Amino acid sequence: MNTVRVRFAPSPTGDLHVGGARTALFNWLFARHTKGVFVLRIEDTDQARSTEAATQVILDGMKYLGMDWDEGPGKDGPYGPYYQSDRLDIYREYADKLLAMDRAYECYCTPEELEAVRQQQIEAGQATRYNGRCASLTEEEREEFRAQGRIPVMRFRAKTEGETVVDDLIRGQVRFMNTEVDDFIILKSDGTPTYNFAVVVDDSLMRISHVIRAEEHLSNTPKQIQIYEALGLELPKFAHIPLILGPDKSKLSKRHGATSVLQFKEEGYVAEAMVNYLALLGWGYDDSQTIFSVDELIEKFTLDRVSKNPGVFDIAKLEWMNGVYIREMSLETFYEHALPYWQKAGFVPEAVSAEQKEYCLEILAELQSRIKLMADVVDMARYFFVEDYEYLEDVVNKILTKPDTEDILAFLQEKLAGLPDFTEESVKPIFQEGMEKFSVKMGGMIQPLRVALTGTNVSPGIYEVLEILGSERVLQRIERTREMLKQRS
Ligand code: GLU
Repeated sequence: MNTVRVRFAPSPTGDLHVGGARTALFNWLFARHTKGVFVLRIEDTDQARSTEAATQVILDGMKYLGMDWDEGPGKDGPYGPYYQSDRLDIYREYADKLLAMDRAYECYCTPEELEAVRQQQIEAGQATRYNGRCASLTEEEREEFRAQGRIPVMRFRAKTEGETVVDDLIRGQVRFMNTEVDDFIILKSDGTPTYNFAVVVDDSLMRISHVIRAEEHLSNTPKQIQIYEALGLELPKFAHIPLILGPDKSKLSKRHGATSVLQFKEEGYVAEAMVNYLALLGWGYDDSQTIFSVDELIEKFTLDRVSKNPGVFDIAKLEWMNGVYIREMSLETFYEHALPYWQKAGFVPEAVSAEQKEYCLEILAELQSRIKLMADVVDMARYFFVEDYEYLEDVVNKILTKPDTEDILAFLQEKLAGLPDFTEESVKPIFQEGMEKFSVKMGGMIQPLRVALTGTNVSPGIYEVLEILGSERVLQRIERTREMLKQRS
């Protein structure tokens, strides 16, 4: 049995977006499912647009999502190098092969000349394509061009009769008329290869068995197949995975909000939720199952369950899924996720003492069932860490301006001061006494106290808040709130 070898081949020209991460994931899952090899190849031949920072973003994104590669940057293998910029000699060698068999030729047209032809074609209502001016130059003509200081590009001599059939594992047989293909450039004048050429050389030399990539590359495939055929190389299997759309059914883009994988990380989406969600963009096991662990995805992922139809990116569903994963974590894991956010916010020092950790765990036990995004641990817990927390204006207006509020807070302060510790058992009778005294319901006691202690009207249960804060801070906070109210009136 031939080993499956697949690759993710990003161009490091920007962020790692949801679409790229989904392509990487499908390749990775397929490799892990088949016990094959997953190659990461950096397609950085576009020197003007590729940056090292963008490569790092890709590597970081892959690491965040737990997609490890068997060959690629930092992981040498038998078919490297894995940066295209380190393979320029190889492309030159294959271009020379095509040249020697007259399936490629040097083209000396300048960009201005090409543009002029393009304009003429547009004006004549024709398809814009290379007009073949340099397709059959004599050596003398080439000499003359060189003497003029022109530096040639290399063009592929494409087959223009007949059709090329892409046998796609997902889309079936897709037919392309060869008249659609012109003599496209394979090496630019600076010697760097174009995508359609380099990708064939690399996929072939790296023994890629399945090319799994985004559907927008389907229209490139007939060109690539022509190169495989010209060089007498064996074709890989192709699988073009469906587009990802935004909620308005147009192609997903920044207009639809965050699409960068590292931004999702920053906002507190946990890797397991991201992976689960991305897997469902164009793949499904059966209609009833939405939650899949990574191991389950590996076990169940096959290409025959990849859909032809686009996936729709639904941030609300991702957020919901993130909440599911957060709730399923152990408290210890939740703590590990939360800690960096609290450290960054300055709530907790870099070196956390056992006592501090205990305090954090107490708070997290209350937050775990309420949170959807890890980043929210900062705002949700701020008042547990700072004494000068803000009071939300509208909450103050709504709750602390009721009659008797001052008296209620004074009453609570006095009564709570008399308690050795705070538990539901010890505090509840105080609320009950206050309810009678001020003729209010339980909420009439709890709400002002919650605002006094947290500055907001959403928090864990009041008994938990009291217990976590402890007597001294509770009494101080009631005092602080009463002062604030006095100043306002
Ligand atoms: N570098 C190409 C891209 O990022 C790779 C496409 C392919 O997988 O062939 O779109």
